[in-house]
Amino acid sequence: MSMMSSGKVGYLIALEGIKFYIVIPACSSIIIQYPLQSIGVEGGIRVKHKFIDGHNDTLMKCEKGVGSFFKGTNEGHIDWPRGKKAGFAAGFFAVFCPNPDSDPLPVAYSTKKGYEKPLPRPLDFSYAYRYTNKVMARFFQLEKESDGRFLVAKTIKDLERSIQDDDVMAGILHMEGAEGIDENLDALSVYYEAGLRSLGPVWSRANTFGEGVPYRFPSSPDTGPGLTENGKRLVKECNKLGIMIDLSHLNEKGFWDVAEISDHPLVATHSNAHAICPVTRNLTDKQIDAIGASNGLIGVTYSINPNMVTSDGKNNEAAKITDITEHIHYIVDRIGIDHVALGSDFDGTRVPTMLKDVTGVPKLFHQLKKEGWSDEDIEKLACKNWLRVLSEIWKD
Ligand SMILES: [Zn+2]
Repeated sequence: MSMMSSGKVGYLIALEGIKFYIVIPACSSIIIQYPLQSIGVEGGIRVKHKFIDGHNDTLMKCEKGVGSFFKGTNEGHIDWPRGKKAGFAAGFFAVFCPNPDSDPLPVAYSTKKGYEKPLPRPLDFSYAYRYTNKVMARFFQLEKESDGRFLVAKTIKDLERSIQDDDVMAGILHMEGAEGIDENLDALSVYYEAGLRSLGPVWSRANTFGEGVPYRFPSSPDTGPGLTENGKRLVKECNKLGIMIDLSHLNEKGFWDVAEISDHPLVATHSNAHAICPVTRNLTDKQIDAIGASNGLIGVTYSINPNMVTSDGKNNEAAKITDITEHIHYIVDRIGIDHVALGSDFDGTRVPTMLKDVTGVPKLFHQLKKEGWSDEDIEKLACKNWLRVLSEIWKD
């Protein structure tokens, strides 16, 4: 394994039987590893990029301990060995509160043209608070038990380090639904001090801050009321602290409330284009335009159950890489290359069989390259756009 020195961008291109570097001076956002034989792209030119991923639910797999994360398993989508093999430098690690066993999630039912899943009932605060702390403790345990291989990212420098150092993975602590935060927002400041740098006010349910979208296909995301007064205070406080607001599960009214109140670039960490796949969780053209106008970012998700990728809305494990790149192209054509990134939703959903897990991500870069993207373009999608937006939002 070799690594490019800090302060340079290197592209290692492996032709069949020939390997060589092209080194481009200047920015430091992508360092390419060697060797490449395990990337999994068949034939032709194989290009590996370091990347930052906008959303994963991997902490849910660490509930009983973090040992298997470092050892590696074949389960789910992300662990340290598979992540490093793929070029996963850093990612948003979500703290998410599942429904308690006593109150299971409602099941989806078929409608004339698709399906609808009713909104789950709000969670009890004391349950959510306890659960949040338990999952956050696992996140910090990842760093403690990593022998320096896992870094809690609190600054842009931490992210840059994960890009430059092949042996370091960085995690950005994210809350997916603020159920574990009290109305006084006391827990918010404690979580910030601990390392929280990103927060979605709601998951797809209601809480004291607002209401998320139910999963419904086909449907507009305009499904319910916007932010509550508590939600508006939460957004302002996140602005003050430098915590990124994630719009991905908010309904449309909530989205526009954040757009009006927040000083930060608008970010949807794991959502696609509604014009292609009209599920409530995807973004309408108007929302996409607002994100672009705010200098914000959309992390494209690979979720196919629930399906956020293909136009039929049906669970579709046979979805192709081009079905995902279609969303990337759509967003780029509308608001430009600076406003699109990756937001897998690994370990929180099912992904197309041909992607399999995090080791499939280089196939996306390979596909974009085949479709005419330059290395510079791929570099923006892979990590430069995340670095730009987070450096606007974070305090350091
Ligand atoms: Zn989600």
